[in-house]
Amino acid sequence: MLMTDIPGAREELERLGLFMHVQVRELVSRLTPEARVFPQELGVPSVSDWHEPLQFHHTMTFRGARPETVSPAEMGQRAAKALAAAGWAVEEKVTEAHFITGRHDGVVVQVRISKISNVVLYQAKTPSLAFHTAEVMVKPDPVRTPDTLRPGYVLCYECDGLGWCSSCWGRSWIPDVERGRRRCPECHQDRVCPICRGAGEKHAATLQYYERGYYPGLSGE
Ligand SMILES: [Zn+2]
Ligand SMILES: [Zn+2]
Repeated sequence: MLMTDIPGAREELERLGLFMHVQVRELVSRLTPEARVFPQELGVPSVSDWHEPLQFHHTMTFRGARPETVSPAEMGQRAAKALAAAGWAVEEKVTEAHFITGRHDGVVVQVRISKISNVVLYQAKTPSLAFHTAEVMVKPDPVRTPDTLRPGYVLCYECDGLGWCSSCWGRSWIPDVERGRRRCPECHQDRVCPICRGAGEKHAATLQYYERGYYPGLSGE
């Protein structure tokens, strides 16, 4: 795998994540203070896009309960006010629920206040950042070559000595236009050649009859 770290990217995402975490906690404590189920730590970023180079972000999803004494519209106003006071650009939308969206520094927080139940749903995410440049796929060196075969062995007819799965080259995944990556259909994440199990070679004397067909030069025994 060949790739170069992007200097400061991890630190920048950490900074944005911590900012989001603090702000959302603050917002929740103002709007639905009884709510306790809350991640205390920011945690590790998750992959937001599996295309190379991988993109990472932090996300939060959290449910609070609107007190009966506060109407959905009033709750929406409180959310909008609190976000605006903290310097967020605020957008309000009322459809089947009250949606209050705040944007700051690329971080987006959305508060969804149900009209038909007391659920207040908080969702927040940081922008997505890549930590390294796109990975250049490099075919690994074969584990066996004609020069390094053990006596009595022949190169694996499937991988020609590579040892690794010839589809994914040992990564367990192959690039996918839509999703970025998908599980290797050849080795099913075993990473190694299914015929030689990674050895790169086959023992000539114990080859199956049909396998000998791959080696026309092999003398019969
Ligand atoms: Zn594979
Ligand atoms: Zn093989």
